Amino acid sequence: MIPTTRLAVIGSSIAGCAAALAAQRAGAASVTVFERTDGQLAARGVGLAVHGERYRELEAAGFLDARMPYVPLAQRTWYVKDDSAPSPLGRTLSVMPFGFRTYSWGSLWRELRDRVPESVEFRPGVTVKEIQLTSRGVELEGESFDAVVGADGYRSVVRGAACPGTEPEYSGCLAWRGAYAEAELPDAHLWPADDCAYVVFDGGHIVIYRIPDDSGGHRVNWVFYTTPPAGHVLPPDGQRALTDDLAERLAGITEHQLPPFFASLIEATPVEERFVQPLYDFTAPHYATDRLALVGDAATVARPHTGAGAVKALQDATALQEALRSAASPADAFAAYDAQRSPVGRTMVDLGRTLGRVLVQETPDWAGMRDGDLDAFWSRADKVGAFGGRELGRA
Ligand SMILES: Cc1cc2nc3c(=O)[nH]c(=O)nc-3n(C[C@H](O)[C@H](O)[C@H](O)COP(=O)(O)OP(=O)(O)OC[C@H]3O[C@@H](n4cnc5c(N)ncnc54)[C@H](O)[C@@H]3O)c2cc1C
Repeated sequence: MIPTTRLAVIGSSIAGCAAALAAQRAGAASVTVFERTDGQLAARGVGLAVHGERYRELEAAGFLDARMPYVPLAQRTWYVKDDSAPSPLGRTLSVMPFGFRTYSWGSLWRELRDRVPESVEFRPGVTVKEIQLTSRGVELEGESFDAVVGADGYRSVVRGAACPGTEPEYSGCLAWRGAYAEAELPDAHLWPADDCAYVVFDGGHIVIYRIPDDSGGHRVNWVFYTTPPAGHVLPPDGQRALTDDLAERLAGITEHQLPPFFASLIEATPVEERFVQPLYDFTAPHYATDRLALVGDAATVARPHTGAGAVKALQDATALQEALRSAASPADAFAAYDAQRSPVGRTMVDLGRTLGRVLVQETPDWAGMRDGDLDAFWSRADKVGAFGGRELGRA
């Protein structure tokens, strides 16, 4: 990159920290990060899973490394309630290899944040309200920059300037989430430590795995996907507490449709550790203009069934770094970045919609499945092979 480039990054979550690191490594003259919160994001979120091969690519690119605390997973077991099954975990429909590693969102963010050098200037507590393109560059918050990276999430103000009219679409589904110390899980020994449980029921499923805590132990992390009860009104953005109707829906499915072990696992979650997130999806028609680039959820949100949101954000930063390093101007770099990452966004959104349909909105007769049926179901569902994220450099 031309070393005089002054670059701003909006947002300092996973995509923002990675983009700041990318711009600094690519040789920007200055990198300034604007973040609307006070900058302490570590308490947010619960767990996330990263595909092992995507991890290796991101480790080679210098965005993840083995010192970041994680829990290794080896298998994914699909369970369904069956009152005649001898195990409290229910009947096993399939056991698949699952070479993922899991992270606590907060510690992953903290590790990334700690790797951003001090030469990057962070401005916490600043909400960027408007982006203005001028003949000299980009104006925001009374300052001028040569280029701006939008890492400001799914309601991105940068995307509003780069791709007016692109709005996230509500998928019609919700994710109820929870996490708590493994010591609170009754009969934890019954469930293998390296297992990712997919517990399926009519109209949805739950993904459950262990994540690291801050002291070398584990927490149980679950995400429960289904549709809201009829008449449910979506709360305003950012409001995540369970309303009475959502708490009742969770309790009803837990009581009637889950194997006993997993029902106890959900019920053991302290009420204050339960929350809900509506699922949106969209992809921006382009990832960049001459002076604006989008990374992470600002560019594309694929439904979380893809297991790849953080991976996608870190891959965006990797691609941005390469593009900035090898181009003569931000405009050339952003054009190369757009060409590489836009197709990936489309692939992941399509996969998320397909998985949302077959795993939530039009679920098959799980209980009627016999040997091999689940494996065939999964091969059809992820026929593009993008679950956990695309290989770097491939659409
Ligand atoms: C239920 C669920 C499960 C998931 N599971 C996984 C998983 O297993 N694996 C995985 O890889 N991913 C998963 N994800 C996705 C993953 O969490 C995100 O894709 C990833 O964290 C990238 O987020 P981001 O940094 O782009 O955006 P965000 O985390 O939304 O950050 C945007 C930042 O920008 C700031 N900001 C916004 N607007 C402004 C403004 N105007 N001015 C200044 N600052 C602003 C915000 O305060 C925030 O800090 C999951 C997501 C959900 C919803």
